[in-house]
Amino acid sequence: MTIETTNKKLSSSKKFLLICFLLFTTLISIFGFGFYYYQKQTVIEAAKTNLSNLADLKAHQIGHWRHERISRAHLLSTNKLFLHSVQHYIEHQDNTSRENIIQALLPALGQNNLNGDHGVLITDHLGQTLLHVGESADWSRRSDKQKIAIIRQNGKPLFSKIYLDQITSESCQRNCDAPFKPHLHMDLTVPLYDNNKLTTMMGSIIFIIDPNTFLLPLVGLWPTSSISAESVLVRKIDDKVIRLTPLRHNNGEEPLVTIKPPKGIDTPGKHIKDGECGVIDGYDYRQKKVFAAIQKVPDSPWYIVTKIDQSEVLSFMTKLGAIIFASAISIVIAVGMIMWLWWRRQQAISRALHYEQELQNRTILSRFDNLTRHSNDIIVLCSEEGDIIDANQRALEAYGQPLETLRTHKLCSMCDIGDNGCNLLWQQLSANGETKFDSHQFRRDGSTFPVEINATWIKVGERKLLQAIIRDVSERKEAAQQLLHQAQHDPLTGLPNRTLITDRLHQAIGKCKRHDNQLALLFLDLDRFKNINDTLGHAAGDQLLVNIAQRIKKSLREVDTVARFGGDEFMILVEDITNIADIATLALKLIDAIEQPIFLGQQEIYVTTSTGITVAPDDSDNTEELIRFVETAMYRAKERGRNNYQFYTSDMNAHTHEHLKLETSLRKALANKEFVVHYQPQVELSSGKIIGSEALVRWQHPERGLVPPNDFIPLAEETGLITEIGLWVLEQACRQNLEWQAAGFNDLSVAVNLSARQFLDKNLQRDVFDILQRTNFNPKNLELEITESLSMFDVNTSISIMDSFTNKGISISIDDFGSGYSSLSHLHLFPIDKLKIDRSFINLIGSNNNDSLIPTIIALAEQLNLRVIAEGVETADQLEKLRQLKCQMVQGYYFSKPLPANEFSALLHQTAKDLTN
Ligand code: C2E
Ligand code: MG
Ligand code: MG
Repeated sequence: MTIETTNKKLSSSKKFLLICFLLFTTLISIFGFGFYYYQKQTVIEAAKTNLSNLADLKAHQIGHWRHERISRAHLLSTNKLFLHSVQHYIEHQDNTSRENIIQALLPALGQNNLNGDHGVLITDHLGQTLLHVGESADWSRRSDKQKIAIIRQNGKPLFSKIYLDQITSESCQRNCDAPFKPHLHMDLTVPLYDNNKLTTMMGSIIFIIDPNTFLLPLVGLWPTSSISAESVLVRKIDDKVIRLTPLRHNNGEEPLVTIKPPKGIDTPGKHIKDGECGVIDGYDYRQKKVFAAIQKVPDSPWYIVTKIDQSEVLSFMTKLGAIIFASAISIVIAVGMIMWLWWRRQQAISRALHYEQELQNRTILSRFDNLTRHSNDIIVLCSEEGDIIDANQRALEAYGQPLETLRTHKLCSMCDIGDNGCNLLWQQLSANGETKFDSHQFRRDGSTFPVEINATWIKVGERKLLQAIIRDVSERKEAAQQLLHQAQHDPLTGLPNRTLITDRLHQAIGKCKRHDNQLALLFLDLDRFKNINDTLGHAAGDQLLVNIAQRIKKSLREVDTVARFGGDEFMILVEDITNIADIATLALKLIDAIEQPIFLGQQEIYVTTSTGITVAPDDSDNTEELIRFVETAMYRAKERGRNNYQFYTSDMNAHTHEHLKLETSLRKALANKEFVVHYQPQVELSSGKIIGSEALVRWQHPERGLVPPNDFIPLAEETGLITEIGLWVLEQACRQNLEWQAAGFNDLSVAVNLSARQFLDKNLQRDVFDILQRTNFNPKNLELEITESLSMFDVNTSISIMDSFTNKGISISIDDFGSGYSSLSHLHLFPIDKLKIDRSFINLIGSNNNDSLIPTIIALAEQLNLRVIAEGVETADQLEKLRQLKCQMVQGYYFSKPLPANEFSALLHQTAKDLTN
């Protein structure tokens, strides 16, 4: 796991934890609050129900008490004997009646005031007290007239208010020092009617009830011990509410206080005033919040109010709330702590991982630094996403940027491969784990340099990194460019050579066909140039050629191509011609320019030229054919006395005739055993030992004598005879070499030339392997020389053919290297073993011309791990120079010309002998 992923994980778990914690806290709060709220409502409901039940019970009991008192009074007031006594007493004021009345009243009071009343009064119909029984009072102060008036009107018993009065007992009246003590009283006044005329009220009987004996204890009684609960009896008169019983929290205060409910707040008094019963949630006389139940006492104007302080009811809830809150806070803190500790632990683990990875990276990067610091290649280390992480010293120098700046780039942004190239690169990397590609890299100043990139995944600790080894191939490309120019140009005149003009002609023919126009090809051959060479020397000949080349160039347009085709042959390509007459004019212009005198030192020279002209596509649209035609036309011009020009015509077949004759005799040559093989030694420079030979074919012509290969190999190639000739040479060379091996030259190798035509023959491998098998020749001693040629253009086929040989142990060398090779950029892909530097380069050694290409070729070979042999070594100076340049092998006339086999044997033995001496 990388640091980035760990950090990402950590940060997401942090977020997750935080969310969980918040969620948990919210849930706990909601649950705690919900539980608390539910409990509170339950407690309130229970308290209200209790209050209501209690109010109901008390109202019922008080109602029952009233009813009983009224029933008892009614019994007495309807007793005929008693009524008679009262009537008699009212009329006569006699003692007998008085005694009778008292006797009748005593049971009503009950023995020893068992009813709990203070006493009983008898009044007349005006409310004047006639007599009394029970505790004494200051009767004079009493005023019962109002009550009498009410009951006279209602005809019903009447309960008075509870009031304070000074009454004393009869015993106390006589003995006590302070006879009058204030007591609570309540009167029950009952009408007394005339015994005969029952509708005439003659007086009343008043029971002076002591409310403390039953009523007040009943009102005040509370079933549970409560510090705030109380019951109050109130009475509603009209729109007034009067309290009948004292207050628990206002000791000593008199009952019978008119209650004035305060405005704006909800109190029991307000409800009673409106005649409403039920349970309320309001304020009491102390302005404290209470729950109260109001119930009407049946058959009376009385109301009982039971109430309790909300604070008492909810005191448990306050505690419960505190407990719930404390528990929730504790749980939240505990969970928070656990989460925090867990996160801290994860952080510590991640930090430890980070340090460990950093340490690993540093160790590996320092190792990477040690390994790559002195590398000649640019080495860059990138992250999995392609960001540059590290680079070696060579990279910093090549890009011209410090490491810090490089680190801000991606690998792709340093290459000129664009987005598509970059995508392809990543696809290959993910498919194969590595990729190789060529590109240009950007320097700091925006300039570019060509590179070969080899990118591959490597493991650095836990991390997967991309390592790019980038080789700066500027020098190689430059050398290739130089060599390409060399290969396509004549070193003497600087003009394009045969290869280049052939190629341009080929392309121009294609253009002609496409645009339906014409081109002209002119072939110039200097007349009797050989004479100049022989008489004035090669240097003068060369100077003359340079001069002529300049004159030709001056006579042409910029767009025309002039090439040195051979020794004294020039070829001119003129494209887009509209008029053939213009070409004739041009030919005359050239003849004129060339025949002007030339001064070589003091010598004045006159040269003429014969010119052949052919026109495409009129004459032909085939490159080789056009060249042949233009040569034929030139020969015709020579035949016509030189210094003229000739257009090609189809009857110009004289040259072709000659050609045909040669071809016929060449076909017979093999059967007639007219070919011989000569061998030229190849010498190791360090030891001077002959290490091998090159087999070179010659034609022993019955009429012409020994014909050199350059005179018949092109024809053999053209006709296809080269395949047969080539295989014959190979077999001869193998057999001959085996003889020399048997003679003691065990390691001697033999190089055999393969022409382009042969190289592309599909049976080549089979035929070569057959010969090796037939002759029992060890492939390790065989070397095949391939000339740089068009066959190399098809790189993949060439590689596979070469591979089939090298896999068998046969070596491959590139012949005439530097003279015509055009696929140098692929050279590193060919499985070759040796480069054979072309003779023309060796020729330049010691001359004034530039010979700097030899060290370039040797350096290139060294870079590609190839051996080098120089051919055409003719002088000791050339040999010495090659020795200085550390060329490994040489071949040339300096050691020996190609020799017949027997002469080569003698040379072998002689050289071996010389060396042992
Ligand atoms: P090559 O393969 O480059 O062979 C080297 C040529 O350079 C030979 O010419 C050799 O005689 C000549 N040479 C070697 N040392 C010197 C020197 O110091 N000075 C000079 N002026 N020339 C030197 P040769 O034998 O005339 O062969 C010419 C070409 O003919 C060969 O060039 C090769 O391309 C071709 N050739 C020869 N034999 C065969 C063959 O059996 N098959 C094929 N396909 N081509 C062959
Ligand atoms: Mg050769
Ligand atoms: Mg050669």
